[in-house]
Amino acid sequence: MYKRIKGTEDIFGDDIKYWYYIENVVKETVRLYGYSEIRTPIFEATELFIRSVGEETDIVQKEMYTFEDKGQRSITLRPEGTAPTIRAFIENSMMATGLPKRLFYIGPMFRYERPQKGRQRQFHQFGVELIGSPSPLADAEGIIVADRVLKNLGLLNYTIKINSIGCDKCRANYKNALKEYYSDKLDYVCDDCKRRYNTNVLRLLDCKVDVEYVKDAPKITDYLCDDCKHHYEETKRLLDNLKIKYVEDPLLVRGLDYYNGVVFEIHHGDLGAQSAVGGGGRYDKLIKELGGSQTPSLGFAMGIERLIIALKNEKIPVEDIKNNEIFVAHLGEQARIEALKIAEDLRDNGISVVFSTMERGLSAQLKHAARLKCKLCVIVGENELERNIVILRNMETGEQIEIERDYVVGTAKEWIEE
Ligand code: ATP
Ligand code: MG
Repeated sequence: MYKRIKGTEDIFGDDIKYWYYIENVVKETVRLYGYSEIRTPIFEATELFIRSVGEETDIVQKEMYTFEDKGQRSITLRPEGTAPTIRAFIENSMMATGLPKRLFYIGPMFRYERPQKGRQRQFHQFGVELIGSPSPLADAEGIIVADRVLKNLGLLNYTIKINSIGCDKCRANYKNALKEYYSDKLDYVCDDCKRRYNTNVLRLLDCKVDVEYVKDAPKITDYLCDDCKHHYEETKRLLDNLKIKYVEDPLLVRGLDYYNGVVFEIHHGDLGAQSAVGGGGRYDKLIKELGGSQTPSLGFAMGIERLIIALKNEKIPVEDIKNNEIFVAHLGEQARIEALKIAEDLRDNGISVVFSTMERGLSAQLKHAARLKCKLCVIVGENELERNIVILRNMETGEQIEIERDYVVGTAKEWIEE
């Protein structure tokens, strides 16, 4: 027997309604803000992610699914959605249609990580990108959209953390301060951090191992230049004005290199070690880095599997998919021909009908209908048909009535709408 690959999941059955629910809420929410969907390929040139996410990040160092294809190209399954979206934005000359451009995506991402609850190797994200605005209005919009998605999902137990990681100017001074802070701790930190100290000192702050040193580290907010400080203050003021709740976290740096300025993360109280449901921020230099022109932008992404865990933990009711409303059973050669016609008539009326396609006796058919949780069974029998009659059976109460053939659809519709 073949088994699914470690860190992947089969999604089916009762879980599907959560996927539909989230996809629908996401699409409807971002529509309110003018975002349109983009579907990029699942794989890209490896170089795209190294260039954007950054050589010294966990994603590039440890987590990418990279392979050589038969044409000896280095290919990587996308670990995140921003780099492909920006690649597509540049390649398809989307700036020609006017800026800012508002795009969203939903789909699978791939990271080679240690599988745990809320952490898989294939997982799903939706994300939005607001491309082309340097204004704090754009930063505020990103956070407002994220907040409204969570609210529209019905979630309550989440926290939005925000910070500003400044521009190159402010970060230069800050990096020196960090280096000084860590200089006498280098013997005690993990090997990754020893390397990061020289290559990308900011990454020490999102080390998952050496967390105890992080809390007393210098704070970037004490090093922001006037422009960055003002931008950050203005973003917060816009959020305050809408009474959007957030917590400032001066040690939040995010795990990808392309960010600058305002960054944010959303954490959910019930998710334990995998508490982040989403994150994002400004990436003003990324588009130029990938070959486009200087285009200040920002975006965020949320993990759908973690949103589902959050929905379940908060016991948010999610409507069942209207499936298997009516079962059509039949007995006899002539009956099944007429039964098939009735099934199609019901479907013409938007009702979900399961037709009995096995050559089974009536009790076996009814048993199957019960198993599928059909509300109603239409039973078409040879004897009844001769009298121009079919039987309607309420599967919940067992109540059964005879009804004229021509009134089946109307009556069945009334019964299931009750
Ligand atoms: P974490 O700190 O938990 O590793 P991250 O900072 O790597 O998260 P991002 O790159 O910001 O995550 O991705 C945005 C969201 O995607 C995360 O907040 C999370 O909900 C989800 N996510 C990221 N990696 C995984 C994964 N391996 N499995 C499931 N969801 C994930
Ligand atoms: Mg991660």
